[in-house]
Amino acid sequence: MRGVQEKKRKKGNKGVIIFLMVIVLVIVISGVAVLLLNQIHITNELATQTVHDLAKTTIQNNEEIAQAVRAPKSVQATVPIFMYHFLLDDYGEYLDVENFMKPSTFEEQLKYITENGYETIFMNEIGSLENYTKPVCLTVDDVFVYFYDNGFPLIKKYNVKVTLNIIYDYINGENYLTTEQIQEMLDSGLVSIESHTRTHQELTTLTEEEQRNEIIESKNGLEKDFNVKLSTLCYPVGDYNNNVIEIAKEAGYQYGIAMTGGTYYSNIHTNQYAIPRIYANRSMPLSTFASYLSEASVEVEW
Ligand SMILES: [Zn+2]
Repeated sequence: MRGVQEKKRKKGNKGVIIFLMVIVLVIVISGVAVLLLNQIHITNELATQTVHDLAKTTIQNNEEIAQAVRAPKSVQATVPIFMYHFLLDDYGEYLDVENFMKPSTFEEQLKYITENGYETIFMNEIGSLENYTKPVCLTVDDVFVYFYDNGFPLIKKYNVKVTLNIIYDYINGENYLTTEQIQEMLDSGLVSIESHTRTHQELTTLTEEEQRNEIIESKNGLEKDFNVKLSTLCYPVGDYNNNVIEIAKEAGYQYGIAMTGGTYYSNIHTNQYAIPRIYANRSMPLSTFASYLSEASVEVEW
């Protein structure tokens, strides 16, 4: 009897063990299943998210492309283009005192530009202003070393763009910019260069051959030496005529800039080779500078 009972007990124990094992197995399997399902769910979510993100990016890219491809129906811009020469306190023996702007005055102007939300543009942007609202262009003619010493630190401080009109043959000449200085300024991204001819002679007094040499070779030289593309011919002493304009067009210049004429209105100054500028002279009060700026505007019709 005892033997039979013992057997039954053993059998009963076995049953309980199997039962427990089954339960454990079920729990483990369920756990794994839940984990797997979760994983699948997460993966699905991630996949959905990724697809969603991709779609979003694609839409954004398409919009960017569309924006880039889409040309505005019309752009009407009013841009004060200022013309500077020397940035120096002491004008020494020179008689053209008004060409010497004090660096402190220049700084006041840059401060005013940035504090009042004006946007500095390079000369080569004058024909594509649809992304600006209050553009202003600062140009420096002849460009002596004083600009590197007194102007470059300020344009970096205020993060403004300046276009330098370089006399090609004068690079590395006494008191003029060196090749290295021009390159350093270009590398900052805040400076662009344009041509102010080879030797700064009044173009209308030259023969056609001489004009070609001044206009074409200065462009070729600057483009080759600094690996840039030029857009603008700055006429020495503001002197030009139709013949000069024809050569400039042929050389691939898009714009020609004069020395006078005040603010540039794109709807009035339709001749792109006779773009006017404002003389930023030594005695210009900040209020005058500010009143020129106040006109800056862009109206875009898409
Ligand atoms: Zn000049």
